[in-house]
Amino acid sequence: MTSSRKLYVKSFGCQMNVYDSQRMADTLAPEGYVETASVEDADLVILNTCHIREKAAEKVYSELGRIRRLKEAAAADGRRVLIAVAGCVAQAEGAEIVRRAPAVDLVVGSQNYHRLPDLIGRVERGDKVVDTQFPVEDKFEALAPPSVAATRARGVAAFVTVQEGCDKFCTFCVVPYTRGAEISRPVERIVHEVERLADAGVREVTLIGQNVNAYHGAGPDGPWSLARLVARLAQIDGIERLRYTTSHPLDMADDLIAAHRDLPQLMPQLHLPVQSGSDRILAAMNRRHTSTDYLAVVERLRAARPDLALTSDFIVGFPGETEDDFAVTLRLIDEVGYSGAFSFKYSPRPGTPGADMADQVEEAAKAERLRRLQAAIDKSQAAFNRGCLGRTFPVLFERPGRYDGQLVGRSPYLQPVQVEAPRGLIGTIAAVTVTEVAANSLFGTLAETTDAAQVGVDANLHAPDLIGAGA
Ligand code: SAM
Ligand code: SF4
Repeated sequence: MTSSRKLYVKSFGCQMNVYDSQRMADTLAPEGYVETASVEDADLVILNTCHIREKAAEKVYSELGRIRRLKEAAAADGRRVLIAVAGCVAQAEGAEIVRRAPAVDLVVGSQNYHRLPDLIGRVERGDKVVDTQFPVEDKFEALAPPSVAATRARGVAAFVTVQEGCDKFCTFCVVPYTRGAEISRPVERIVHEVERLADAGVREVTLIGQNVNAYHGAGPDGPWSLARLVARLAQIDGIERLRYTTSHPLDMADDLIAAHRDLPQLMPQLHLPVQSGSDRILAAMNRRHTSTDYLAVVERLRAARPDLALTSDFIVGFPGETEDDFAVTLRLIDEVGYSGAFSFKYSPRPGTPGADMADQVEEAAKAERLRRLQAAIDKSQAAFNRGCLGRTFPVLFERPGRYDGQLVGRSPYLQPVQVEAPRGLIGTIAAVTVTEVAANSLFGTLAETTDAAQVGVDANLHAPDLIGAGA
């Protein structure tokens, strides 16, 4: 065992990066690295980066400027600080990062972080290292599992990557290039990982993948669908809630839709990005479905689970998008009634087909459409939250709130809920009556019966009832 050194990992971008960052820390723990929340104390700084939009990638370089100054100050005190850039910017830009930011010691691609102990050893011996090859070995297999203490410190809700990469090649997206081809982890390994999490106190697991519902991992009797995997995980003692994200509308298979009806552990909330409501733009994006196809999937899902809360991603200002195309997107938002959504201005990414398309939309028009889109989403979300007022449903308490005596939990629909409740309820599910709603969260009181099992979720309530008359 080597002496203890401090590790600071900063995650940019999606939940997959959050999961990867945790696994990097787990892999470095046996090497003597202990996580710190303070970058000033760190002996090793890892930036786990996102390349999805230009703004996300540029953030990394401004952060590197700040860390370089810390590294120089530490060197003046005789302390060596190593800087590593991991994730999708590392994968996409490789050695260019060291050229632009020479203080960086190590560049490690999104498929190679299981090699970190070895790569850091090389850096310590004085090399600059760039490793962005797609390896032949299974990264997940080679990673150290988290200790029970690390899992506990991360809380009662955990992410587990079950699928990675993407073969869809939407024309705006870098993921197929930075994360590579679609792969699914075998069932047995996921089951084992979730069992370990449950033993350490985790109660809610979100299965993640760039295209999670395309999951087709090897099971004991051939490839398993995501629906079969979810049903298997629901049998694990201690796992009370399951979610999955992010799904592609094309891969919303019948058995997965049925799981929303049949599996009580599968929460009534789904992130189902549509990007645009215009068929012309959807075709140019290579999404391979129309808005009618999307609405048909939504209808089938809501037939299976009427109170299903839906969220989405939207891109405004994709090349060729006209005011008419945009107006159709606004109509779709009204029609679906989302409980929330992420929205972005189109950002041309080098190497993707969209970047070379004619008819790029002016920045000012993108900004103006984004404002209108976000106003429509806020209205929809506010209506959804208002529909929860006065209802009683089970809340999983995750952590202390901002004020003394307050806890923060999650509703079945993924809204944060703030409640005055004893600390001992963290990690448990209790019935809460919603007394007040705000833009992004709910406030409630513990219901007379705190036994959530007696309350359940009113699955027969239709989502438009939740959205309320004011939508
Ligand atoms: N796989 C998911 C899907 O099919 O929708 C999404 C993955 S991507 C990491 C998350 C979101 O980033 C996308 O849904 C899209 O809205 C947004 N995004 C991706 N590329 C973008 C770009 N070039 N410009 C703006 N937003 C982008
Ligand atoms: Fe990117 Fe998602 Fe399209 Fe794959 S399906 S290319 S991850 S937006």
